[in-house]
Amino acid sequence: MSRQRSQRLYAEARKYIPGGVNSPVRAFRGVGGEPLFFESGEGAWLTDADGNHYIDYVGAWGPLILGHRHPAVIEALQRQLEKGLGYGASTEAEVRLAEEVCRLVPSIEQLRLVTSGTEATMSAIRLARGFTGRDAVVKFEGCYHGHVDGLLVKAGSGALTLGAPDSPGVPEGYSGLTHVLPYNDIAALEEYFTANGTNTACVIIEPVAGNMNCVPAQAKALSRLRALCNEYETVLIFDEVMTGFRVALGGAQSIFGIEPDLTTLGKVIGGGLPVGAFGGSREIMSRIAPEGPVYQAGTLAGNPLAVTAGLATLEAIQAPGFFESLQERAQTMLGELRSRAAAASVPFTASQAGAMFGLFFSEEESICSFEQVMACNIEHFRSFFHGMLDNGVYLAPSAYEAGFISAAHGEREIELTLAAAEKAFAAIQP
Ligand SMILES: *Cc1c(COP(=O)(O)O)cnc(C)c1O
Repeated sequence: MSRQRSQRLYAEARKYIPGGVNSPVRAFRGVGGEPLFFESGEGAWLTDADGNHYIDYVGAWGPLILGHRHPAVIEALQRQLEKGLGYGASTEAEVRLAEEVCRLVPSIEQLRLVTSGTEATMSAIRLARGFTGRDAVVKFEGCYHGHVDGLLVKAGSGALTLGAPDSPGVPEGYSGLTHVLPYNDIAALEEYFTANGTNTACVIIEPVAGNMNCVPAQAKALSRLRALCNEYETVLIFDEVMTGFRVALGGAQSIFGIEPDLTTLGKVIGGGLPVGAFGGSREIMSRIAPEGPVYQAGTLAGNPLAVTAGLATLEAIQAPGFFESLQERAQTMLGELRSRAAAASVPFTASQAGAMFGLFFSEEESICSFEQVMACNIEHFRSFFHGMLDNGVYLAPSAYEAGFISAAHGEREIELTLAAAEKAFAAIQP
């Protein structure tokens, strides 16, 4: 399969764009080789600049739960295009989207729309600090919440690690206010809260971690976290930028039956266009400007095209049986992948939360910590990634990203994926 045009575009891109990409993980550094340039997408399929076709399990990094160019989304966008691109003022579509989100996610009584997941988490943390009058923030090892200064903190190995900047350019004054705890570790939580609970503005967590591969939180760890936040009057933020409208209609919080104080959303809520949101109780949300003193604003926030794509997507995913059938298809595929790995004697396991999944090259039966993720066989993943790519399946070019299946992935796509996997597993050197 020729990749000449992609290679030429990448060489040109590197002249004008740092590393040739506008977001680092696109650069294939995690898997080696050169990134592909894409030309179009249709349903479950992507076409690259050289005309090669791939079954897509990246889904624009999560938004495309309906697949590429879903007719309902495209039609809604075409109607809005006739009416203008944006007015910098309020529209009915924003009200409808906010209303819909509040109905689907009961812990959200009010929300503010922004233009990215990063903006949502950054604003939610500012709001939590403004609401509590406290400065300290807790995050968990291996969780990603966008490129917010204070959240780009190196995932230390021990509990109670005081943050150090992961990235130059983040003043220690910021990162020093961020405490990093191990994921799914109740003892570390208890210890932290006993020492620092009363100074802590908020805890932010991915209830299903999707940025260290796919690692669901344990229900008992999340419910202990909820109880500790209540006891210390600390704001609990579920970062559902990835999991919202992806693992279930009501997000991960509906699966666990645990309500956070604030929720951040992104990805699916924009249906492929730039939308993020943060929301929660009216009591907390009323502290946001112009109602309250905590400042937050955005020129393109609630952009009518973006909101229209989001609304059309949220409508389509409410079709009866939508999540059940997606979940079933993912489950079948992952079960078959495990059998094919076993047949090829490749140590392998998989995780799943709704329409989101993780592939692990590991001897372990299930993975629940950052350490276990880091112990997976990276060489096997790289070989598998390229094997899949060469056989027409596009996975995220990193062992630390979740995979996404869409409603457009039918039986034929799953069969082709499994046939590709059989070859990719067989090519892995023991
Ligand atoms: C993608 C992601 C973000 C950041 O969203 P952007 O739109 O890339 O800024 C934040 N949190 C989680 C959990 C994410 O998956």
